[in-house]
Amino acid sequence: MRFDILIKNGWLLDGTGNPWFPGEVGIKDGKIVKILPTIDGSAKKIIDASGHIVCPGFIDMHSHSDAFSLLTGEMESYIRQGITTCVNGQCGSSLAPIPKGREAEAKNRITDEFPPFAGVEITWNTFASYLDTMDKIPCFINQAYFVGFDALLFAGQPGEEDRPPTSEELESMKSYLDESMKAGAFGLSTGLLYPPQAYSKTKEIVQLAKVAAQHNGYYFSHIRNEGDSVVDSVKECIEITEQSGCVGGNISHHKVSGRPHWGASKKTLTLIEDANNRGVSITCDQYPYNRGMTSLRTLLPPWVHEGGIEQLLIRIQNPKDLKRIRKEMEEKQSEWESFVQANGYDHIYLAQSYTDKWKPYQAKSLAKIAQMTGSADEFSTLIEILIDENAACYMTVESMGEEDIRRIMKSRYQMFGTDGAGIPYNPDLGAVHPRFYGTFPRVLGKYVREEQLLTLEEAIRKMTSFPAQRLGLKDRGLLREGIWADIVVFNPNTVADKATFEQSHAFPEGIPHVIVNGELVVEQETIHKVFPGKVLRH
Ligand SMILES: [Zn+2]
Repeated sequence: MRFDILIKNGWLLDGTGNPWFPGEVGIKDGKIVKILPTIDGSAKKIIDASGHIVCPGFIDMHSHSDAFSLLTGEMESYIRQGITTCVNGQCGSSLAPIPKGREAEAKNRITDEFPPFAGVEITWNTFASYLDTMDKIPCFINQAYFVGFDALLFAGQPGEEDRPPTSEELESMKSYLDESMKAGAFGLSTGLLYPPQAYSKTKEIVQLAKVAAQHNGYYFSHIRNEGDSVVDSVKECIEITEQSGCVGGNISHHKVSGRPHWGASKKTLTLIEDANNRGVSITCDQYPYNRGMTSLRTLLPPWVHEGGIEQLLIRIQNPKDLKRIRKEMEEKQSEWESFVQANGYDHIYLAQSYTDKWKPYQAKSLAKIAQMTGSADEFSTLIEILIDENAACYMTVESMGEEDIRRIMKSRYQMFGTDGAGIPYNPDLGAVHPRFYGTFPRVLGKYVREEQLLTLEEAIRKMTSFPAQRLGLKDRGLLREGIWADIVVFNPNTVADKATFEQSHAFPEGIPHVIVNGELVVEQETIHKVFPGKVLRH
């Protein structure tokens, strides 16, 4: 037999969690067609994998590549770390549905969040037409999509007001969700920290999640509060999954945020364990870093966001409002998660920003920036940045403790997700989170090889067959004859992340070859401009 690609002399880790075995892999027409200890045959391309692990491609369970991938499918930061499939539409944020006639409004909202989106023309309304659009954009890797609660609110309950939906509005959101699920969305995602999603009540979300459940969908959630109410917030995610009848629930980028709350993962993991023991399937995903990244304006209390960015910018220039904002941000609050209160300005760092004035301060803490600019205090610095940047810039927050990170990573219900985006290598994009480039190799280098927190086969299972099973992808996530050839070849002795918070645009080491749908996208650490990625439908 003549193969397209023949991988020789590899150490095969098949993704099940079983130990490695010596073997060779024959690939033809996009699929794995033969796995044997030795394969005789010719091939257009022969890869010698001596001393290397050969395993299924990594599945990124939590990606925000939505907007970026409309600009370009050259996801260099992802493919070089071995990611062959990513799951978009997370934290309640998806680019569809968009009601007819409101394209310009939608575009403004997305551009507020992600300024480069200004160059994109919105040519879709339904989720089906959105996925069709994505089908036509050449991409290195496969992409799956969730429909986001924020998009449903935009479509069905416009106004970003802090009030419950009318029954008509709820019905409207349900029908948008129904269309999205029929089109191939994998489930419903929420980001309950973010207004206007933060205004919603548990029972409203249950009503929506029931629609996802009718289509064998999943409920993925950036929970309401990852700090002082992390335990109650995990309970809410479990409750929504249980009451809606969704196939499974997933706690996105599971963490315990804020020094005073470290250690709470003991309780959250027990809740997850208990739920599974009574027949409610709950998992979580995680990135292996002690800093989170989100919009800088998330530091402001929820009421400041009401009515959208324009209103927010008015409020942060009103002295009376500013006084209240500062008090709520810096002093202990009851329900809302204040990053400033829990972590301090010295652990909050400016990340991507877009004005010439603030770009030089990227990767520096708000405390440091206040000092460097001779500002009155950190709060004034923060407000000045938000006004100059139209509230559209980002931050990283050093909010997590290593004990919690390790405890969550060891859970058998845990998987990995970048919470980043697949982007072309470009340092001009500014200080992105290093997870964009380093999530998977960091696990394999730091937590498997150096710290031996996980065995190699267990880590690979969490990166491959487990997420594939969770998503219902029956033809990916394993090394098996007959399934899609998404494959990573890496050196277990050298694999390592290189991206840091200061120098985040850096490819990892030790991952010479990555194959997507039977095509070599990375060969000898060099990227080929081929685009075998597919849009996956549930
Ligand atoms: Zn999130």
